[in-house]
Amino acid sequence: MPENIYNLTRAELRERIATWGEPGYRSDQIWKALYQELAPDAGAMTTLPRPLRERLAESFIFGGLKPANEARSSDGQTRKILFRMPDSRAIEAVLMGYARRRTTCISSQAGCAMGCVFCATGQMGFQRHLEAGEIVAQVLWFARELRAKDDRLTNIVVMGMGEPLHNYEATLAACDTLNDPDGFNFGARRITISTVGLAPAIRRFADERRQVNLAISLHGATDELRASLLPINKRYPLDEVFAAARYYTTTTHRRITFEWALIAGVNDTPEQAEALAKRAAGLLCHVNVIPLNPTTGYEGQASTRERVARFSAALEAHGLACTVRVRRGIDVAAGCGQLAIQS
Ligand code: SAH
Ligand code: SF4
Repeated sequence: MPENIYNLTRAELRERIATWGEPGYRSDQIWKALYQELAPDAGAMTTLPRPLRERLAESFIFGGLKPANEARSSDGQTRKILFRMPDSRAIEAVLMGYARRRTTCISSQAGCAMGCVFCATGQMGFQRHLEAGEIVAQVLWFARELRAKDDRLTNIVVMGMGEPLHNYEATLAACDTLNDPDGFNFGARRITISTVGLAPAIRRFADERRQVNLAISLHGATDELRASLLPINKRYPLDEVFAAARYYTTTTHRRITFEWALIAGVNDTPEQAEALAKRAAGLLCHVNVIPLNPTTGYEGQASTRERVARFSAALEAHGLACTVRVRRGIDVAAGCGQLAIQS
């Protein structure tokens, strides 16, 4: 199986091309063609001599993602693409447009090992990690499409299928590639990684002092409740998650986002709001609440609008900054936690 060219760093590509006896500037041309011109394959790299294009086409695959299905929300603002990978596994990625924002929500794994009870990806179990190049390719796919309409991506969120910090190396390698000023040049500050709360990986991420934003999925502020929703809480209980979060904010001086999917009668209570406020006191953070999106494998219901408003008001009364996210794309099952592949 030929290698995915998007797996390579710029240095690795340079080395590879050098072994072919090509002059050094050729690898710069290829890198530009991949990440600035957004060439979808070697054939489109018209700045290169034909024999080199042919050799590239024989030696590499260009992402290997085949769009196999597409769904568009009724308001036309959200699109979900199902990509088939070379091993026939599938993943989904979403593009959302709000005003001037063009945000892509991409996957880091096929399936997920974390088993969060309300998440469709968790319900399908773990299939495999994505390679860095498969993560990059999702972004490039939407970037190309937007480019054709004179538009561009403004934000990337790694909140699709999978737990990005469980696939740490590949996810961060993908960020580095997308970040490269001589290539795609996508600012790290416009990338957000969301984690279920793998405390040691959060500390490692803090130590690397990246500009990439971090979000932590909480959904519960007492161990008993959180563990009933997120099984990983038994391994990394709240004290550890918050200690890692504090380590992150003190090391990086960057604000953390806590995510909270509001489930009627489960975690939308004043007691949970108070417990969350207590734990987060003095922490550089912000809470993002969103009413639960429905999934077939979980019977919990979204909190009503009144309960959502009451919960966020309770947080703010305790001095916690809070925003309520609008649910998007749920009519095409493209909302948070709704990505799953039946096959
Ligand atoms: N694995 C990472 C990122 C992918 S999930 C994580 O868990 O953070 C992205 C976000 O969607 C997480 O906050 C997750 O808890 C949330 N989510 C999962 N299922 C959901 C659902 N049914 N409704 C609303 N949010 C959900
Ligand atoms: Fe995995 Fe995140 Fe879904 Fe939990 S919420 S199962 S960590 S994708």
